Amino acid sequence: MNDEELLDAFGGVRIDHDNAAYHRGLLERRLLINRCDSCAAWHHPPRSVCPRCWSRSITPTDVAGDGFLALITILRQGPPQPGVDYAAGHALVAVELDEQPGLRIAGTVVGAPAEQLRVGDRVRLLWRDLPGRLPRPDFEVVR
Ligand SMILES: [Zn+2]
Repeated sequence: MNDEELLDAFGGVRIDHDNAAYHRGLLERRLLINRCDSCAAWHHPPRSVCPRCWSRSITPTDVAGDGFLALITILRQGPPQPGVDYAAGHALVAVELDEQPGLRIAGTVVGAPAEQLRVGDRVRLLWRDLPGRLPRPDFEVVR
């Protein structure tokens, strides 16, 4: 996929040099998180410089998608979206990935009532195909 096709696929989303690989990964159902080639630190959101050692040698790298809920926000209203039921409470979460303490990614949790989610719950990555929605990382609770 060339740059123009990527921009078309994510119309309305700000795609730039730093986050293009991340979004390309989403289209392939891959969660690519930037990793520093010099010090091996992960960082997200994508930046062109390692926040730990300032190296510009960065490689978007697959992560397993396992982690735990570090932050939970429950929305009761919002813009209509496929697969979102605000009446039941729609959980937006920050998942701390197992690859590195403090490495967090935003997403949603499906398959569990929002009210039952707890900080610390183990989750794993889940890709869903919903009509009218671009691929994005969702998570499901691991019991
Ligand atoms: Zn580094």
